[in-house]
Amino acid sequence: MSQIKSVILFCLLCFSFTVFAVLPEDEKVPGGVAVIKLPKKYNQQTTPPSVYFDDVKVAVLKDGKNTDWYAIVGIPLTMQLGIASIEARQAKIRESIHFEIVDKAYTEEKLFFKENKLVTPNPELAAKIKEETKHLEAVFSSWSDKALENFQLKIPVKGRISGEYGSKRILNGELRSQHRGLDFAAPIGTAIMAAQSGKVIDVGNYVMTGNTVVLDHGQGFKTIYCHLHTVSVKLGEVLEANQKLGTVGKTGRATGPHLHFGVSLNNVRVSPKLFFVN
Ligand SMILES: [Zn+2]
Repeated sequence: MSQIKSVILFCLLCFSFTVFAVLPEDEKVPGGVAVIKLPKKYNQQTTPPSVYFDDVKVAVLKDGKNTDWYAIVGIPLTMQLGIASIEARQAKIRESIHFEIVDKAYTEEKLFFKENKLVTPNPELAAKIKEETKHLEAVFSSWSDKALENFQLKIPVKGRISGEYGSKRILNGELRSQHRGLDFAAPIGTAIMAAQSGKVIDVGNYVMTGNTVVLDHGQGFKTIYCHLHTVSVKLGEVLEANQKLGTVGKTGRATGPHLHFGVSLNNVRVSPKLFFVN
């Protein structure tokens, strides 16, 4: 009898692994990801409906050999708790699908910068930061139809996690916005690898993020690598997963050498830990 139970348990484990192997972890909280199964009526179709969250297109994917379509929705850190909805659009039909966003407690983190100009920039620098933010917003809101096989990411650098996603940052004693990435502390020059195969859609040197690379993995799924010491890739280059794209540095607003790693879905920076497989 216990043998039968073990076999059943083993099968269940295999089944759940197979079903959720290619999708990110479902965590319907501000800063998390909603993995939403679309209604069965779409299963027969080779092309899924287009799905929108807050009028921004979201990724839709089949999970391996499973016949169901899933919408993968990035939830902003500033999102109100309670019922939210996505809209499936096909031909002239619009269908709302609801889901619930629950609370998550994020920690506080105190940071001190010797150079106060990056904490409270003068008007000229503030204008430059605003321009660069606008540019990066455009990079993140771009869409490519490239087929996306999965949402699995490899940890991009060997280092210690020194800054958690979502932490409320107190800069030189003043409460600022929440951290929209994950920081890995590592010595200057440590290799940084592409977390998944993707196309280089931005390379720049910005006031806040320093030397920066953005990769597009398809369907609004993107990763960003900041504060690099060196960048070894060019705009438009297509990288394999694990291919070196640069080295750890402390360019831009950084208290020490580290990689700031961010993950974006539907132009929302979400928690990278929901995607890691190693
Ligand atoms: Zn960071």
